[in-house]
Amino acid sequence: MDEPLSNRIASCIRSVPNFPKPGIQFKDITPLLANADLLGETIRAMTAPFANERITHVVGIESRGFLFGVPIAQLLHAAFAPARKPGKLPWKTLSEKFALEYGIDSLEMHTDALGNAGRVLIVDDVLATGGTLAAACRLVERIGGSVIGVSVLAEIPGIRSKSLRIDAPIHSLLHY
Ligand code: AMP
Repeated sequence: MDEPLSNRIASCIRSVPNFPKPGIQFKDITPLLANADLLGETIRAMTAPFANERITHVVGIESRGFLFGVPIAQLLHAAFAPARKPGKLPWKTLSEKFALEYGIDSLEMHTDALGNAGRVLIVDDVLATGGTLAAACRLVERIGGSVIGVSVLAEIPGIRSKSLRIDAPIHSLLHY
């Protein structure tokens, strides 16, 4: 019998200890990106739970969220809108800060990225503390969109911060 999709994906994600700093097990998705058929199956499985949610916009988080977000938007016949690191977007932007392990980062989106009332699916590769996704949710709402769901490839369990609010349903293909 075929191995379950989650096992096949897990075997194409390399855990690299102590990268980019001591104590972090970095989830390297490049072997998955190199496997065209498995990547296609992965994209379809990240999309399927939201197929009937009338998603109008997929927001991908820089940068690995773009790799999954664009093909998911195509499958849903939805627009793609990037949430980018500061200073990258050329038009009018809003930004949201969030805490990193050491210091602060922020995400920016164009103020006109979601039309008038987008029904938004937010996409990223890995969910760890949830700080990045919580900031993306706040940003989408400030721009006038509604977060209908969050789709991630993998969640690293046990480190999501309870104080970070993500009200929409979160779908993760893998839990390490
Ligand atoms: P967090 O805000 O803590 O949930 O971190 C999520 C963001 O950081 C995502 O955009 C991930 O791409 C990246 N990230 C966090 N932890 C890891 C990890 N262990 N391996 C790969 N990427 C990670």
